[in-house]
Amino acid sequence: MKKIGIIGAMELEVEELKGKMVIRRRVEKASMEFLEGKLNNTEVVIVRSGIGKVNAAICAQILCDCFKVTHIINTGVAGSLKNEINIGDIVVSTDVLHHDVDVRVFGYPLGEVPQMGCLAFPADERLTQLAVSSCKEVNPEIAAYKGRIVSGDQFVSDKQVKEEIVSSFQGFCVEMEGASIAHAAYLNHVPFVIIRAISDKADDSAKMDYPSFEKAAAAHSAKLVEHMLPAI
Ligand code: SAH
Repeated sequence: MKKIGIIGAMELEVEELKGKMVIRRRVEKASMEFLEGKLNNTEVVIVRSGIGKVNAAICAQILCDCFKVTHIINTGVAGSLKNEINIGDIVVSTDVLHHDVDVRVFGYPLGEVPQMGCLAFPADERLTQLAVSSCKEVNPEIAAYKGRIVSGDQFVSDKQVKEEIVSSFQGFCVEMEGASIAHAAYLNHVPFVIIRAISDKADDSAKMDYPSFEKAAAAHSAKLVEHMLPAI
């Protein structure tokens, strides 16, 4: 039977989903509260991981080990890396990588974790497609893009840093957890997708934009996740 692990880094990314679910069990592990139950007629475990790659990786591993989830979805907000992708729009992952890994000195491409055998972790194609089509149904006024998502332990709010990331990785958006969730899902052979709504443009305006738009953006992404669940 399918059981979907849903991770949001911050409370505002999962609070609406938690409010709508029927909770059967609460489990605390690694200082994170895992809520198991049903959402939109689907078996789910919803959790706030905390911000950054380490919290996200710990959280995803617990979902695999202790809850035996069959799929993982990460919902949240991100900074846009493309001019045409605006605040409020949605990016759904095709693949995901760590933009802050650099072992080029031993011949690895920038972003590749040594000895993993891949630069980017491929998202599940069916989940990606489903997220994009669900967005058209549930958020018809919002554009949904399919593309690479890049993550690092860094809030990108500087035009030059943004440009370097764009030219190195051709990402569609940047955030701080997706690659770790993808990495853990990849190692555990669990299909995953990262869904992010844009809260800022990851440039010098991000410090101003992010606080104004994070709540609405997080809600767009969560609404889409809720809608796609029964079709997984
Ligand atoms: N306001 C929070 C910190 C948020 S950090 C506090 O004060 O505690 C930003 C969060 O949103 C991360 O979870 C990250 O995944 C995402 N994010 C949004 N825009 C981003 C950007 N420009 N660069 C990196 N992460 C971004």
